[in-house]
Amino acid sequence: MARYTGSVCRLCRREGVKLYLKGDRCYTAKCAIDRRAYAPGQHGQGRKKVSEYGTQLREKQKARRVYGVLEKQFRGYYEEATRRKGITGETLLQILESRLDNVVYRAGFAASRPEARQIVKHGHILVNGKRLDIPSYQAKPGDVISIADASLDTPRVKELVESAESKAAPAWLERDLNTKSARIARVPARDEIDVPVAEQMIVELYSR
Ligand code: SF4
Repeated sequence: MARYTGSVCRLCRREGVKLYLKGDRCYTAKCAIDRRAYAPGQHGQGRKKVSEYGTQLREKQKARRVYGVLEKQFRGYYEEATRRKGITGETLLQILESRLDNVVYRAGFAASRPEARQIVKHGHILVNGKRLDIPSYQAKPGDVISIADASLDTPRVKELVESAESKAAPAWLERDLNTKSARIARVPARDEIDVPVAEQMIVELYSR
């Protein structure tokens, strides 16, 4: 699956909020949005008036960028959400939260979602005891994700596991730092998904 390979700080500056794509740097004074709080490019400091469509579009782009998903796959998630019971916008966010790379990030085993994606792709993650290197895998309640034993010899993975202790895991994940694992206890509720996205606007955009 393709992915965005440009400057991630530009994405935060475009959306006007921190999307926390660079891990620890996002919490320091080096954060680009703290230093240049306007959209990137020649016209970044120009016209500010945005149409209704523009506002809806920005919400969708923001959600895509938070989770690192390209348009085609994002649209697929939306369509899947419309097929399921419940509130479409909320279901969409739950589908995004269930991505394996997001679960690794939420469990505190990566400093950012892009890093979690890389950790998954490099084969450091097991799901129910089996290696799984697909970041988009939809984790289900009952799944146990863990760090492969052999990966603990990798300095960055070791460092991340050690620092996981200082990061809280959400209530829908039962994390066990002794076994370097996290079990998905249930689907997260909307108020447990702390992304700065107005999901209803995404539904309105795709319903046009
Ligand atoms: Fe976004 Fe992090 Fe870059 Fe700040 S440092 S602009 S939060 S990716």
